[in-house]
Formats: sequence, C-alpha cells, structure tokens
Amino acid sequence: MPEGHTLFALARDLDTAFRGTSPEVSSPQGKFAGGAALLSGHEVVEATSWGKHLFVEFAGDRVLWVHLGLIGTFTIDTTSYAGELPVVGQVRCRFATDDHVADLRGPMVCDVVTPEKVDEVLARLGPDPLRPADPRSDPDLAWARIQRSSKPIAELLMDQAVLAGVGNVYRSEVLFRLRVHPFRPGNKLQRRTWRAIWADLVALLPLGVATSKIVTVHEQVDEVARALEAGEEVRLTSRDSYVYKRQGEACHVCGSRIRTQVVAGRNLFWCGNCQRRG
Ligand SMILES: [Zn+2]
Repeated sequence: MPEGHTLFALARDLDTAFRGTSPEVSSPQGKFAGGAALLSGHEVVEATSWGKHLFVEFAGDRVLWVHLGLIGTFTIDTTSYAGELPVVGQVRCRFATDDHVADLRGPMVCDVVTPEKVDEVLARLGPDPLRPADPRSDPDLAWARIQRSSKPIAELLMDQAVLAGVGNVYRSEVLFRLRVHPFRPGNKLQRRTWRAIWADLVALLPLGVATSKIVTVHEQVDEVARALEAGEEVRLTSRDSYVYKRQGEACHVCGSRIRTQVVAGRNLFWCGNCQRRG
C-alpha cells in the first residue's frame, strides 16, 4: 500500500499539473461517470494530501476525495497528448488538459464530497509527520491515544486514527532504528520514546518524498539528507532496509535472524535481539 510520502508527492505533482486549469474530467471505465460530470470543466483550486488521503479541490466547493487502498495508482502523463492519450486498463477517473493527462486506477475511495465532509475525514485522522508545522499535526494528539491503549506499538503506528500516513514499511523500520520492541503495549511506552519515534518519522518521510523510496538505513539517510541540503539531485539505485522483508536474513547490526509475524493484518519484521522486551 502506498504510504504517506507517496500521497504527498502525488498531491504536489497534481497541484503543479492542474492547479488553475479546468480539466475535462471523465470516467473511461464508467463507474465514476456521475462524479466526473460534477467536476468536469471546473477550475482546480488545490491538490493536497493528509496521510494516505488525497483531496483535489475544485471551484464551487466540490472536492475529489481519493484513497488508493492497496492497489490504486494515479499516474500523471506530462507530455502533450492533448487528451488524446489512449485509455489503458480500467481508468476510474481521468483529468485531461492540453498539457497533462492523469489517470486514476483501482482506488479504494473515489468520491466527490463537500469541504465539510473533508473536515470530517481529517478529524478521524491522526497527525501527519509530513506536516509537522500544521496545528493538526501535534504529536501529543497521537500520544493521547497511544498511552491509553494496550495494543502493541507496531499495531498503533499503523492505525490511521493515531498517526496518518505511516504504513507497513516505515513502522517496522522506525521501531528497529529506535530499538523498540514492536509488541510493547502503547500504555507501557515512555513518552520520550514516542517523541523519538515521531521525530524520526518527521526526519525520514521527506527523504521518501524526495527519492520516491523509503530510505531508512543510516548510510543512505545521511547520503540523501546531505544531497538535499546541498540542493543536489538525489539518486538512489538500490533500496536497503534493516528488517523489512528480510525475514530469516542476518540483522545488519547484530547478526541475529530477522523475524516476521502478522500484526494489524500485515507482516511485521523485527530483530529479536536488537529490539528486546523490557
Ligand atoms: Zn539485531
């Protein structure tokens, strides 16, 4: 499933391509024909994201609300096909202008909603570490939920009402980076540990936006952060991880075998030696 950094980059790219234009909106597949008709020809005011949710605001208080779910994609063609780009596969929604075509396929949510409904959706979501300056991204809002829960921290980090945007890869990697046992209950976590998890996510997610890869291994984190600081182009040819999808392999730090178990419906990965209980 795309994590928050993917949605953040997608919202930015849609905003760049379509803000201020009045695209022709259609549903080549037909399932979204009614919604597309409500948007077509209206001006795009802004495209934004919060966690894994995407909102494209159109003039007239109409907002396209999208959640990609597990398999959804929203691709932008930046060449000038003038809307003549052939439709490939099941395109739920297409934006077309003279300069850009964007195709949405396989989303979990694709709906036209009011700004009030957007507020309702946002109210159900936790703080987004990609927007640390936003008043809604106060990490104490997440802490209030974490410290009341006896669920494992690995499960709480995936709960979008606790924290918005973090998925399976970031939760496993960040818990390893901070040597936190993934099954530690929220109400047994120290506040300073939560603060460290939040700070790590705030530092890591922008590197994901910049590289389109989840960068968590210290050498790569340093390399990407340095390149961004210097304003250089970032090129990462390989993606490494500490624990994600490394079950049975040796831990990079201690050599123990990396373990895996299903938590919150997804495979969690951790090192039983580096991330001890207690
Ligand atoms: Zn280890």
